[in-house]
Amino acid sequence: MNSEISKILLTEDKFLIVTHINPDGDAVGSLLGTYLALSEMGKQAWAFSGDNLPELYSFLPGLSSVITAPERITEAPAWIIVVDVAAEHRISGDIAGFRKRAKLLNIDHHPTNPGFGDLNYVEPTATSTAELVHKLLRDAGYKSSSDVGKCLYTGLITDTGCFRFSGVNSGTMQIASEMLGSGFDSYEVTRYLFEENSLGRLFLERLMLERIEILLGGRLMVSTLYHGDFERLGIPLSEGENLVNRLRESRGVEAGVLMTQTAGDVTRVSLRSKDRLDVSAIAKSLGGGGHRHAAGLRSTLPFPELKEKIISAVEKALA
Ligand code: 5GP
Ligand code: MN
Repeated sequence: MNSEISKILLTEDKFLIVTHINPDGDAVGSLLGTYLALSEMGKQAWAFSGDNLPELYSFLPGLSSVITAPERITEAPAWIIVVDVAAEHRISGDIAGFRKRAKLLNIDHHPTNPGFGDLNYVEPTATSTAELVHKLLRDAGYKSSSDVGKCLYTGLITDTGCFRFSGVNSGTMQIASEMLGSGFDSYEVTRYLFEENSLGRLFLERLMLERIEILLGGRLMVSTLYHGDFERLGIPLSEGENLVNRLRESRGVEAGVLMTQTAGDVTRVSLRSKDRLDVSAIAKSLGGGGHRHAAGLRSTLPFPELKEKIISAVEKALA
């Protein structure tokens, strides 16, 4: 499978690359890394996203080439490469028109990914999609430029929480080492990702911490953010990315849940766990998905009902 996909990257042309809605570092890094590498290989490639990419990633090369209006893609792509997307409905941007004439290559590491591509490279043991992209490009004989290395390393660093999260092993380090070998400055990546947060994000974090509810005898922490919080602080929803991690960082806590009420009647729920609790199963049971220790969902259920459902699902899973 791996070599078949590498061959396609090597021999085919006209690639449209897309990622998931509310893109995170792995999504943006994999999108840009794939796009830049294929462009460097002399291919026609388009990076397309229905969402504007978060300001946080503006240090990455290639960001200004991302197309947000599909009419700017004037030729028919032969392949659509979907990176880091757990489920087809989570693709950012309308690709239905292109899909009729293009084949779809699905590159992902979410265990809940159903394999919606014509070709699927779904590897749940990988800590990031960026690592999978790196492997495919390497096997196609492509040697990363420092621009591509920087993008893919951003994906790896984001999804491993700087090599902290479960699943990190010698293979992860090996690939990180290969990425770093392309010559970019690793501190530039970590500084932009972790030391250039907006004040708005800091104040948002304060609100989240103030509103913590400690439940199930200290094993679950839940907090809530409202659309109005983001409005008052003048920041987009994307500024709340991964704040939820803070909710599982205390001793005795097995799960952290952040519920964010968006502008419509949709609530975004982010779940984090450690050890034995599988939050992807809980997310899946409510229409979402993700990884064992990091999962999410969106729901239009009334807020109190949704919250109750999540608390009881966690309680049941812990029993
Ligand atoms: P986050 O809490 O950071 O939004 O998401 C954590 C993980 O769960 C990510 O890997 C993300 O792709 C996945 N995820 C978040 N929301 C959803 C959702 O609504 N559906 C699915 N299938 N996965 C989600
Ligand atoms: Mn990912």
